[in-house]
Amino acid sequence: MALTRLQRDLDRPANRQPNRSGIDFNTIQVGYYLYGADEIVWVKWNREGSRKYAQVLEVDLYKRTGRWVYAQGLISRIAGLAVLTAREAARLGQKYGCCVVCGRRLDDEKSITAGIGPVCASRLAG
Ligand SMILES: [Zn+2]
Repeated sequence: MALTRLQRDLDRPANRQPNRSGIDFNTIQVGYYLYGADEIVWVKWNREGSRKYAQVLEVDLYKRTGRWVYAQGLISRIAGLAVLTAREAARLGQKYGCCVVCGRRLDDEKSITAGIGPVCASRLAG
């Protein structure tokens, strides 16, 4: 699968360094963010609950599904990103044909029109 723009940005050597950003990762809120116009980032806790990390939604436009992929260094670039609103998630869901929260393909007509399922929409800010 082709790399997303975000993945290409992250692959620059400067972004592979350990955290020299001066950003306190503890201040970054868990949740979904919009990167640029059309990519989605998910900040979450690791299994041990000891640190946060970020994933990017990799969309398969042919299958109309998405999957969350770990992106090294991404957590240091969250500051300043807009929190993903339900409205933006719906717009991107309509564009990609999948729910941008869970990555499932939008199959029934109601969900395709809405661009997102009701459960996932409730996980986002208005
Ligand atoms: Zn969903």
